[in-house]
Amino acid sequence: MSLLEIYEISAYYVHNNSTTKAVDNVSFSVEENEIFGIAGESGCGKSTLVKTIYGFIEPPLYLDKGKIIYNFKDSNEINSVTKKNISSNWWKKISYIPQGSMNVLNPVRRIKKFFRNLWKAHSMNLSYEKYYNLVISHLHHLGLPADILEYYPHQLSGGMKQRVVIAAASLFHPELIVADEPTSALDVGVQLDVLRLLIKIQNEYKNTIIIVAHDMSVMANFCSRIAIMYAGNIVEVAETKALFKNPLHPYTKLLIDSLPKIGDIRELKAIPGSPPDLTSPPSGCKFHPRCHFAKNICIKEEPNLKKITIDHAVACHLLER
Ligand code: SF4
Ligand code: MG
Repeated sequence: MSLLEIYEISAYYVHNNSTTKAVDNVSFSVEENEIFGIAGESGCGKSTLVKTIYGFIEPPLYLDKGKIIYNFKDSNEINSVTKKNISSNWWKKISYIPQGSMNVLNPVRRIKKFFRNLWKAHSMNLSYEKYYNLVISHLHHLGLPADILEYYPHQLSGGMKQRVVIAAASLFHPELIVADEPTSALDVGVQLDVLRLLIKIQNEYKNTIIIVAHDMSVMANFCSRIAIMYAGNIVEVAETKALFKNPLHPYTKLLIDSLPKIGDIRELKAIPGSPPDLTSPPSGCKFHPRCHFAKNICIKEEPNLKKITIDHAVACHLLER
């Protein structure tokens, strides 16, 4: 059974009279113990999608339709328009590493205080002493020195701050960790260390990780499957090898050629045009204004995500017969 089943979710930002369709009719599933990647250009809805998966849906963001089923080991939870509070599972069953998460550490509080606040909010009936010992052994286990607890965030490098946030997110061994651009703003070597830390956690705690990144080499090296997002839609989902070897959606092909790869200094091929305004997206296939292969039907009808093989799905009229 999949750990996560996502059915036709739409999550919109509503401001006065305008609606931004950041996530629009998205369906996919995530299997137990996999690292699932979500890639796409800035502003395509990746962050909104993972926020929605985490159940962090606050105005101006609204879940417009659809549902997410979480098949946790000892409970099934549902996040839908009618039942959407899954926050009692936060940190324990599902953790979220937001974009720029190292900045969530309060600059005037020691790291110890950050962990203490976590204990206050999610103590899990442990005494503070037991909890503190748990934190220290968890840090050791992840290869982090316990004395960082005495430091203020500004005394730590960006990479170390990110590791602290990852250590906190994995402290209670949640079944699902959702990480939004965990390596952005870090040096190349540090990016790899941070990714290796996530893999170590996934290997040892047998949990599932959803990772958002726009670096396709991160995706190629660390994810078992990848979903490509464009303008609020998932346009292709496949096993990593298949996606890189045989990308089927015109956007995926351009994305693979255009996005930065660690250590690659060649000039990047830009994707022509720019992503659409999601307050008034194009009709039909939202990629049609930028697609060299667009046909009449592409302007009129939105293609559905359809399976081409058992583990490769794509939303493009070119692949429909
Ligand atoms: Fe291009 Fe049409 Fe496929 Fe969209 S559906 S990607 S416009 S060919
Ligand atoms: Mg983002």
